[in-house]
Amino acid sequence: SPIPDYLAEALLSVEADQSGQTADYIPELASADPDRLAVAMCTHDGRLYSQGDCDQAFSIQSISKPFVYALALADRGFDEVLEKVSVEPSGDAFNEISFEPGTGRPLNPMINAGAIAAHTLAGPRDATPTERTSRIIHGLSAFAGRQLTVDNGVYESEITTAYRNRALANMLRANEIIGGEPLEAVVGYTRQCSLLVTVEDLAMMAATLANRGVNPVTGAPVVPAPVVRQVLSVMATCGMYDGAGDWMTRVGIPAKSGVAGGLIGALPGQAGIATFSPRLDQHGNSVRGVDLFRRFTSDMGMHLMEVP
Ligand code: GLN
Repeated sequence: SPIPDYLAEALLSVEADQSGQTADYIPELASADPDRLAVAMCTHDGRLYSQGDCDQAFSIQSISKPFVYALALADRGFDEVLEKVSVEPSGDAFNEISFEPGTGRPLNPMINAGAIAAHTLAGPRDATPTERTSRIIHGLSAFAGRQLTVDNGVYESEITTAYRNRALANMLRANEIIGGEPLEAVVGYTRQCSLLVTVEDLAMMAATLANRGVNPVTGAPVVPAPVVRQVLSVMATCGMYDGAGDWMTRVGIPAKSGVAGGLIGALPGQAGIATFSPRLDQHGNSVRGVDLFRRFTSDMGMHLMEVP
């Protein structure tokens, strides 16, 4: 297959770019090796290709959001989830304190406010916070096709300074979007963000979305097809935060970034792609990751608005 050579060449073409900064509001991420670089691609029928630092594990961070949103939709149904979290692009930063006037709902599940709410909607209604978090860890592991584990160092590092996310959870509680103790929602959400993954795991998770919710390697049906349609639509409009419009026009596939430097894209019916490079742009998206995806779009005609 020409794919491994192509991926290796793509990494070489972006390797020298040192622009951007690692996330500094989470101390463990600030000290990560910024030069790491990896890419993986998994086809809808389960062929996996990877290059670069593809064994390097890093925390999933916000890339967990679309998958947890998917679990919430599958567990509670569309009506219940949509009543609590809208699907409108916010055009704001990922951690913006913003709620829809009138309803008090977060604008979408890709920004932190909406992701914390979606976290509380995964699993059965009467689940304890611990049961909910374990449902999420199992669910994300099913997307990846292997058991994922939490990086406790990253978790501790983030939770001790998570003042902004605590503020968001308190607002969600005041707006009656979430129930229970707000801090427990932040604890669970932060654990979810601290799950360790490699680019191969992420490519597999994205490929499960590209394959109608069925993991292409294990064959496990993780979430139903209508849930996948909803999740990919929200990724396309909101996945790259205030960089979403630029992304959709230039790259043109549903995507999600994380502050540890991961980035995924899912091309329905075709493949899941993931990159890892820790330096971020002003939106909190990986600089070399965005560059790689732009290159993939022009080389492989991935843009969904283009007739193949
Ligand atoms: N855990 C991070 C936070 O809540 C995730 C943010 C991200 O990856 N964009 O701030």
